[in-house]
Amino acid sequence: MKYFASIFLLLSITMGCKSFKKGWNDLNVFPVSYDIELGKQVSGDIASKAKDFPILPESQYPDVYRYIRKITSKILNSGKVENKSQFAWEVKIIKDDKTLNAFATPGGYIYVYTGLIKYLDAEDQLAGVLAHEIAHADRRHSTKQLTKLLGTQILLDIVLNSVSDKKQANANIGKVTTALIGLKFSRSHEAEADKYSVIYLCPTDYSADGAAAFFEKIKNNPTPPEWLSTHPSSSHRVKDIHGEKAKLGCKGNRHYRSEYQRIKKML
Ligand SMILES: [Zn+2]
Repeated sequence: MKYFASIFLLLSITMGCKSFKKGWNDLNVFPVSYDIELGKQVSGDIASKAKDFPILPESQYPDVYRYIRKITSKILNSGKVENKSQFAWEVKIIKDDKTLNAFATPGGYIYVYTGLIKYLDAEDQLAGVLAHEIAHADRRHSTKQLTKLLGTQILLDIVLNSVSDKKQANANIGKVTTALIGLKFSRSHEAEADKYSVIYLCPTDYSADGAAAFFEKIKNNPTPPEWLSTHPSSSHRVKDIHGEKAKLGCKGNRHYRSEYQRIKKML
């Protein structure tokens, strides 16, 4: 397996000259099909861990799910999401009012916590945060970061299903899930995800700087969530997001505040 991985790595580097030019930090040795397989396995792992990831049952909350999917569909149909048709883009809500977070796995499985939905005030804010997470998956930041953190071998073993010991194979996937939840992206990846949140929202009727409203709000939070602490400073991000919207000349101005409040009350 190690031998194969080395050949694969070499091949990927030789073939991926374009990514190579961007430097080691941005090098992605995985083909897109591996993001898809990794996402499938991680989402399966999350589904099997109801204690850690209590999924809000869709049968009891069909309107909330319909509402969140309406938001992600608008983003995905913006014409700006590169892997729109390749990735799964499935949405799940995690019932945890204390966690202000959302994340997307490689391959586009999107998770949003009830804590985040309840914390925000308007639909365009949630759209901005979801667009940011979609960007991490679509721009393939997560696979790049996971490779850096866990090494190539473990990810290859998972996507190629090459570990026959079931217990070991499950433990490997579990490692990826855990890493993914607390995944710290580089500053440049965060800045790029912020920029893409505006690019994705720009063709929609939402105010394209929805993510900035989230950072404005969280800036005043006495206990900001742990995942936010290493991000670039909130005020810088707000400024850059507004700047990107102005640069692109985005015309959308809808916030859908009352509709958002109505959905929040259902949770
Ligand atoms: Zn991020």
